Amino acid sequence: MAFNEDFWANVQTGPDCWDWRGPVSHAGYGRYGGRAAHRYAWESANDATIPHGMVLCHTCDNRLCVRPSHLWPGTYQENSRDMVDKGRGTAGISRIRRPRIGESCALPAGPTIIGSAHSALMATIPNRTYLP
Ligand SMILES: [Zn+2]
Repeated sequence: MAFNEDFWANVQTGPDCWDWRGPVSHAGYGRYGGRAAHRYAWESANDATIPHGMVLCHTCDNRLCVRPSHLWPGTYQENSRDMVDKGRGTAGISRIRRPRIGESCALPAGPTIIGSAHSALMATIPNRTYLP
């Protein structure tokens, strides 16, 4: 995917988060061309497509942030397991609400066994600042 001036004209870059200044969805995420702006930013920066069924999580919990190094692709399952690890889902994993696509979620507590597709994606991300 080529650099998109039209997209980045809506982004306020800074030393930390890069905030989206364009249209915002009711869920609080930036919108660009009918898509979530942060997903567009990540795919554009990594020249990759987020596989079906994966969510794009924010390390910074800032839904408007579109800085590619603040975003990491995860899965529903990882997010749920993370909640259990932190003692938030002890009543039963079936009751844990599924995050919506693009919803920000918690960071993994530590190294996790992940699928090869996920590893390949993670390897493409510059500045892996989300790792402990
Ligand atoms: Zn951020």
